[in-house]
Amino acid sequence: MALAYPRKIDLAQTPTPLQHLERASAIWGRGHRLWVKRDDLTGSTLSGNKVRKLEFIAAHAIDNGCDTLITCGGLQSNHCRATAFVGAQLGLNVHLLLRGEPPSNADGNLFLNYLAGAKVSCYPLKQYLSDIDQLFGKWQEHYAAQGGKALAIPTGGSDGIGVWGYIAACEELREDFYAAGIEQAHIVTATGSGGTQTGLTLGAALHDLPATVWGVNVCDDAQYFVDKVASDKEEWEQRYPGVPAVKVQARVLDGYVGHGYGVADETVFATIAELGRLEGLVLDPVYTGKAFVGMVTEIAAGRFKNCRDIVFVHTGGIFGVFPQRAGFDGILDANNALLGHS
Ligand SMILES: *Cc1c(COP(=O)(O)O)cnc(C)c1O
Repeated sequence: MALAYPRKIDLAQTPTPLQHLERASAIWGRGHRLWVKRDDLTGSTLSGNKVRKLEFIAAHAIDNGCDTLITCGGLQSNHCRATAFVGAQLGLNVHLLLRGEPPSNADGNLFLNYLAGAKVSCYPLKQYLSDIDQLFGKWQEHYAAQGGKALAIPTGGSDGIGVWGYIAACEELREDFYAAGIEQAHIVTATGSGGTQTGLTLGAALHDLPATVWGVNVCDDAQYFVDKVASDKEEWEQRYPGVPAVKVQARVLDGYVGHGYGVADETVFATIAELGRLEGLVLDPVYTGKAFVGMVTEIAAGRFKNCRDIVFVHTGGIFGVFPQRAGFDGILDANNALLGHS
């Protein structure tokens, strides 16, 4: 289908590879072929899914005369880190509004934000939750008063503009499927602010990708993401009145949040370590680790039994491993002879 994409700026290293996971398939596949779409390879500092959205968002910012990007998220937000580097690469100022008290030792994504020269403001959880809209407004006025113009980018870059990133990624996946001989697949992705899931779900319909898209939620619940996908799609349709009308249904694999957003249990850490040894892939405890555990649990329960191929979208997040290194205590000791314990 000839879709009229808005302008984007090439920032992501694409197309990313689609790789067959031979050893992981043998362990977890139960007859399925497991594949990984390596969106953790979209860049080094720009690693992960957010850069696909930011390609469109940054073009929108520049085309609208903005010199500053403001966005928000947790202290270890991958989206905020990616925005910080996109800004630095394009000569735009970046101001991050982060949720939580800053630790005395900045680690992972937070540390990288400083290297990218982003301005960082931290707000206590309660204030962040109640005031984030006003905070965006306040800082936009601040920059306007200085003669600048700041674009407010919502959580995760998940809005009507950002969803183009994964609509476009579905064109890539269609080529990948063809090259790999995949005729029909289930696609599994972590879902947090919903934009990746919205883009993939819409893109699969728009590009006739023979796939069913599933989001494993890492916060909130299934209903939240059904509503979020519907509202992201609605915003996309309102912004771009010429787009084709498609009907889509968001599918959510709920039950893998555990004790909350950003809090992983031992199964998640153990699975990250196992996949690292087995395939040389590093997942993260906030998003992809939980999504992978969700996928293999659902495979074992027979969720995908009508279809041979399952594609896991590796959405990145590697820098989130470092601040959570304590979660691997005991797990790595037990398996890593280099530590001298086995
Ligand atoms: C943000 C993020 C996700 C979730 O993507 P959304 O579009 O926000 O739902 C998944 N994985 C990683 C590593 C992320 O940083």
